[in-house]
Amino acid sequence: MPDIMDIPNNLYRATNPLIGEVIENKFIAPEEPFERQVCHIVIRYQDPNFRYIPGQSVGVIPPGADPKTGKPQQLRLYSVASDRKGDLGDGLTVSLCVVRHFWDNEKTGEKNIAGVCSNYLCDLKVGDKVKLTGPVGRHFLIPPDFKDRDFIFLSTGTGIAPFRGMLKELFEGGYRGSCWHIFGTQFKDRVLYDGEIKPYEKHPNFHYLTAVSREEVNPMPEHVPTRQNRMYVQVKMAQHERALIPAVAKPSSLLYICGLKGMEAGILPVIDSWGRELGQGENWSQTLKAQRRLLLEVY
Ligand code: FAD
Ligand code: NAP
Repeated sequence: MPDIMDIPNNLYRATNPLIGEVIENKFIAPEEPFERQVCHIVIRYQDPNFRYIPGQSVGVIPPGADPKTGKPQQLRLYSVASDRKGDLGDGLTVSLCVVRHFWDNEKTGEKNIAGVCSNYLCDLKVGDKVKLTGPVGRHFLIPPDFKDRDFIFLSTGTGIAPFRGMLKELFEGGYRGSCWHIFGTQFKDRVLYDGEIKPYEKHPNFHYLTAVSREEVNPMPEHVPTRQNRMYVQVKMAQHERALIPAVAKPSSLLYICGLKGMEAGILPVIDSWGRELGQGENWSQTLKAQRRLLLEVY
């Protein structure tokens, strides 16, 4: 990991947030259905000392008060979706990848309630001001000695955000290792940032796979069970295990999981089954976690 002193941390807090201005807000998945829109939002700021590293998150403070407390809305965290130079390359922007959130209140029976901050962000227009805090997060970062390590990036939905910046930094930074990127989504037209990630396939050491849950069928449900036999990231892992097992077994390799809370429950058993094959005991995933070679950011 980067030297702990070099990791920016809480440069701005909720009491004195950084004010950014939206310079782009575009859909990166189909506009319909509205409830599942995903937006790529680029926010410009003026402070050249504000910085972040892919794998960190920034806080966003939505306007208004929380009706439950009457106090100002609490900040929500969003993974940084750009590399540390930002999408404009000048170190003065941060990008976010946000999915609209809707939820049902089981207590009151109210359905399809709009999440406060995700909908605020997706509705922002160019020129709108946004209150930012952070950055935060020290554990989900690429180490400075990344060039010859192998990486396995596993994500679902907006969990792809940190990997967009990380992949850019790897391939612009003289990377020589082997990198796997497996992304899970419901439909082919929701493969986020596909147009940016596919070109990395020109590097022979980059392996890019998608698991399209509602359009592909899980051919090995007895081996890797999934909901309604859907194609999930963990199934792709099992299908490519001949190449992935040696990659994960390399002592210098790192495995990153980001996205839906619960995705790890299907992924870790696959890793554990590989561990049994390699004589690593019953809980290889726990060993890798303890060695800080398996890193999780799920929400
Ligand atoms: P909220 O309004 O906060 O609602 C969220 C949930 O809170 C609801 O589902 C419900 O369970 C509960 N809730 C809210 N109000 C009530 C109430 N009155 N009574 C009972 N329960 C209630 N999201 C992304 O889209 N992209 C990212 O890159 C991303 N990165 C993240 C990184 C981290 C480290 C973390 C922790 C989260 C990340 N998230 C990301 C999720 C994000 O922080 C928000 O949680 C998400 O956008 C939902 O926020 P919201 O304000 O829209 O919903
Ligand atoms: P998504 O499309 O809902 O999911 C991405 C992919 O992950 C889909 O293919 C999905 O398959 C698959 N998946 C689901 N469960 C999995 C599991 N256990 N293991 C592996 N893969 C699994 O992702 P998204 O578009 O980013 O949407 C995220 C959803 O999370 C939104 O509905 C949003 O409201 C919600 N969210 C909630 C909060 C919160 O605070 N509670 C925060 C952020 C986001 P299937 O769907 O086909 O099964």
